[in-house]
Amino acid sequence: MPRIDRTPAPLDSRPHVVIVGAGFGGLACAEALGGTNIRVTVIDRNNYHLFVPLLYQVATAALSPADIAEPIRRILSRHPNIDVVMGEVTGIDRAARQVELADGSVVPYDRLVLATGSSYSYFGHDDWAEIAPGLKTIENARRIRARLLMNFEQAEISGDAARRKALMTTIVVGGGPTGVEMAGSVAELARYTLARDFRRIDPRTARVLLVEAGPRILSGFPEDLGHYARRKLEELGVVVLTGQAVEGITPEGATVGGRFIPAGTIVWGAGVKASPAGSWLGVETDRSGRIPVNADLSVPGAPDVYALGDTAALAGEDGKPLPGLAQVAKQQGEHLGGGLEASLLRGQPLAPFRFRNRGNTAIVGRSAAVFDFGRHRLKGWFAWLLWAVVHVYLLVNFQKRMLVTMQWLWRWATYQRGARLITADRPAPVAEAVTSPHGREAEPFDPRPFPDMKRGQG
Ligand SMILES: Cc1cc2nc3c(=O)[nH]c(=O)nc-3n(C[C@H](O)[C@H](O)[C@H](O)COP(=O)(O)OP(=O)(O)OC[C@H]3O[C@@H](n4cnc5c(N)ncnc54)[C@H](O)[C@@H]3O)c2cc1C
Repeated sequence: MPRIDRTPAPLDSRPHVVIVGAGFGGLACAEALGGTNIRVTVIDRNNYHLFVPLLYQVATAALSPADIAEPIRRILSRHPNIDVVMGEVTGIDRAARQVELADGSVVPYDRLVLATGSSYSYFGHDDWAEIAPGLKTIENARRIRARLLMNFEQAEISGDAARRKALMTTIVVGGGPTGVEMAGSVAELARYTLARDFRRIDPRTARVLLVEAGPRILSGFPEDLGHYARRKLEELGVVVLTGQAVEGITPEGATVGGRFIPAGTIVWGAGVKASPAGSWLGVETDRSGRIPVNADLSVPGAPDVYALGDTAALAGEDGKPLPGLAQVAKQQGEHLGGGLEASLLRGQPLAPFRFRNRGNTAIVGRSAAVFDFGRHRLKGWFAWLLWAVVHVYLLVNFQKRMLVTMQWLWRWATYQRGARLITADRPAPVAEAVTSPHGREAEPFDPRPFPDMKRGQG
C-alpha cells in the first residue's frame, strides 16, 4: 500500500507535536498547546471525545450517547494551530519519527504524545468479550442497553418460568466503581423505571448480581465507604457476591464460585489492560501493558516520545502507581502540554509531574454516593450531589451540561429514563406461547433472588 504523508507539505518551520488519542489526557494536552506557535496534530480513531465515566448511564437508558460525546473537531476548532485526523494508529516508526495509520498513511512528528487509554482485559478469556461486553465504548453501551431492554421484552412473552428468570437476571462482573455504578443503575431501572410498564412480568423481581473476586467491593476506597456502598446496593436489591471469581461465561449465563447462574445480560467491569502503544514503540511494559514513564512523562529510551493517562505507568508521591482515572490523565495532559510549549519555544526542560488528588468517587444509586479525598471522605446524599455537580462540570460543553442536568432532575423526580430504545444487538424474537394473555403471569415468581442463598452473603 502506498504510504501517504497526511500532514500538509510544510513550508512551516514550527515544531510539530502529534498527539494520539483525544480522550481526557490527549485532549487536555492539545488544549494546553492551543493558540501557541506550535503545529499540533491530534489523531483519534473516533471523531468524538467520549466522557467515559457516564457510559453506564447510556447502558442503562438514562442518557443518550450524544449526551456524553462531543466531536473532537468542534472542541478544538477555536485553535487554528491544531489539526484533527480521524484514523486508527497501528504503529510507530521511531527511526523515521512518524506515526503509521491503518490506511497506510503516515504522520511525521517532532514530539509524540501517546494518550491511547486502555481497554478491558478478560484474563486470557477473550471469547467472553462478545457475551459480556465491557463499558468502554459507545457501541458496547448501546449493546448492553439493547440486551437489557430486549430481555425484559422477551421475558414478557415467554411461557417458561425458568427462562423468564434467566432473562431477568443481570450479572455485573467486577466490584470497582464501574461495577458498583452499573449494578445500582440496573437495579433502579428494574425496580422503579420499568416497574409498571409490563403486564405479565414484574420487573421488580429482576435479579442483579455484582460479582467480585476480592474480599470486598470498592477496594480502592477506604473500608467504611466500601461497606456503605454494599449496604446501599443491597437496599436496592442487588446481590453482592464477594470472594467469588467468575470461572466461565457462556451465552446462557456465568459460573461463579462453582455454581452456574443462568443470566440474560452479563456486563464486564473487571481488569483493564493498556492500549498497545508500548508494543508500537518496542519498549518494556508493566503487567497491564502500561509504559513506565519518567517523572516528566517521557518514555525511557524513546527520545521525544511521551505517554500519559491509562496507557502510562507512573508512581505517585506515596510510591504507589497512580490510578487509572480521568483526573490523572487530564492533569498529565495539561502538565505535558504546558511543558512542551516551554521546551519547544523557550528551550526549558520538562518539569516532573505531580498529581493533585481531587477526590475519587462512585455513585451507588439514587441519592447515594461515596467520595474519597484522601484525608477526608464523604458518603450519602451530599456526596451524591457533589458527584453530580463534578460530573456535569466536567462535561465538555455548556449545552451538554444543561441537557444532562435537566435529564437528571427529571429522572430524579419521576424515575423515568428517556433513552429506552432498542436499537442494536437485537436478538430474534422468541417463538414461545404466552401463558397468560391477561394480567400478570399466573404463576408468581419467587421474589428472592436466590432462595437458597442469604442476600449479601460473601
Ligand atoms: C465505565 C468507566 C467509568 C469510569 N469512571 C471514572 C470516574 O468516575 N472518574 C474518573 O476519574 N475516572 C473514571 N474512569 C477512568 C477514566 O475513564 C480513564 O482513566 C480515562 O478515560 C483515561 O484517559 P485517557 O486519556 O488515558 O484515555 P481515554 O479517555 O480512554 O482516551 C483514549 C483515546 O484514544 C483513542 N485511541 C485508542 N487507541 C487508538 C488508536 N489505535 N488510534 C487512534 N486513537 C486511539 C480512543 O478513541 C480514545 O479517544 C472510568 C472508566 C470507565 C471504563
